[in-house]
Amino acid sequence: MTAVTTKNEGQWALHQREPLNHNEEFKAQDDALNVRARIEQIYSQEGFASIPGDDLRGRMRWWGLYTQRRQGIPGGRTASLPPEELDDEYFMMRVRIDGGALTTEQLGVIGAISTEFGRDTADITDRQNIQLHWVRIEDVPTIWQRLEAVGLQTTEACGDCPRVVLGSPVAGVSAEEVLDASPAIDEIIARYIGDQSISNLPRKFKTAISWLPDTVPEINDVSFVGVVHPELGPGFDVLVGGGLSTNPKFAQRLGAFVTLEEVPEVWYAVVRLFRDYGYRRLRARARLKFLVDDWGAAKVREVIENEYLGRALPDGPAAIVEETRYDHVGVHDQTDGNKYIGFAPISGRVSGDILSRVAALAEGVGSHRVRLTPHQKLLVLDVAPERVQQLITQMRAIGLEAEPSQWRRYTMACTGLEFCKLAIVDTKQRSMDLVAELEQRLGHLDLDVPVAIHLNGCPNSCARIQTADIGLKGQIVTTADGEQVEGFQVHLGGGLGLELGWGRKLRAHKVTSAELGDYVERIVGNFARERTDRERFAD
Ligand code: SF4
Repeated sequence: MTAVTTKNEGQWALHQREPLNHNEEFKAQDDALNVRARIEQIYSQEGFASIPGDDLRGRMRWWGLYTQRRQGIPGGRTASLPPEELDDEYFMMRVRIDGGALTTEQLGVIGAISTEFGRDTADITDRQNIQLHWVRIEDVPTIWQRLEAVGLQTTEACGDCPRVVLGSPVAGVSAEEVLDASPAIDEIIARYIGDQSISNLPRKFKTAISWLPDTVPEINDVSFVGVVHPELGPGFDVLVGGGLSTNPKFAQRLGAFVTLEEVPEVWYAVVRLFRDYGYRRLRARARLKFLVDDWGAAKVREVIENEYLGRALPDGPAAIVEETRYDHVGVHDQTDGNKYIGFAPISGRVSGDILSRVAALAEGVGSHRVRLTPHQKLLVLDVAPERVQQLITQMRAIGLEAEPSQWRRYTMACTGLEFCKLAIVDTKQRSMDLVAELEQRLGHLDLDVPVAIHLNGCPNSCARIQTADIGLKGQIVTTADGEQVEGFQVHLGGGLGLELGWGRKLRAHKVTSAELGDYVERIVGNFARERTDRERFAD
């Protein structure tokens, strides 16, 4: 193994195995995946009070379960409260939808579970998952049975492990795609999810595998993006070490070329490198991006090749990014003559009833495939051209829009104060109100470039604020009258793909939640008036 530092960062490969924080302790004491048996045999029988703290707030995450925020606790008080007071006796349950790919049968099952066990709540997340709320521990085994009966799972949907694998929502149907990456995603899920050789990582591990760069590849721990090698043909460029939160980093290219068949093997090598060399001392420095930043991409590649693959990978070209805002909303051609249609809820907020209806409406026009996007949107595939308008009209009636305003289309929000224990401010409802306000106030503007607005409830950046045109980080702000209220720190001009760059944090730009509509109207109005031809918001 390669020696890199003498400081004890908790790197297993350097024999620094002693747990250096509480998370490392409980993971070392018992593999987190083992908590499932206790949920099924004890906690679901004996109730919420029977769950000890390390299982409740630690290991249960490996099965997609987080305690949700007790209702009525204001954001400003979050940090000062002990966990028992913040925890409600209900759970958020995250269903992992790898590649964002669902059959209508699977979607209908999730919808029915939400209605029966989750007070009809459901959110499409910006990592292609579906999150349910208000789940009782007593119902968890039944929910798992129903999910698993149709090939769905919550395994490793949260926790320090390989999370959902992002995939192109149009994999297998897009005319722009040269190679469908879905077989690599399927193999990774079948072989490695739930595998205890990689269930104790230093922190979460995020993956994107897609021919098109429509899965935010720059900000995942590892990404595979389609590229055509001049001699070897189609395959994938590999990027490592991306991530957001309070210390954002763009992923770096390894400069290596990987075939579709090799993707699972190389993915497993990167995960084990992270397991063995990742920093485990401080949670805030435990993501792969810190190791990649310290080592550099060349060393990461060398260690992957020498210590994990046992062979060198060929050099490869960089993926060519020609488009940035791949959200797939609207009507698009498939390669087989059918259409796919992308629909926009607002900030991913749907319900169990809506999901069940989407499944029924899709089947009503002969489709059996639905996809979720990393932009909190939903696609129906395989629609015959003559059924397109019927589906658009029917989906509009349940609040899903194929021809949305630019504000509905490009606004995203994280879970926020409604359910998240870390939140400082409300985000979902605020974003829905904001979209309605902007549609009314700015509906007359004929903007031919998108202005993406992302709202986070805290600095963790689940809604990717640093990569938005207008990124809003929730915090308590002080009004002119000295009152402490919910508000946002503004970041301006971030982007991915062709517009790659972090939003600039403008210290003077802090806005209260109540003033948000005025603020956005003002800066977008200024932009629309003063911009030169084709100038983008980030410019
Ligand atoms: Fe919760 Fe913060 Fe993530 Fe929003 S950004 S979901 S408030 S942790």
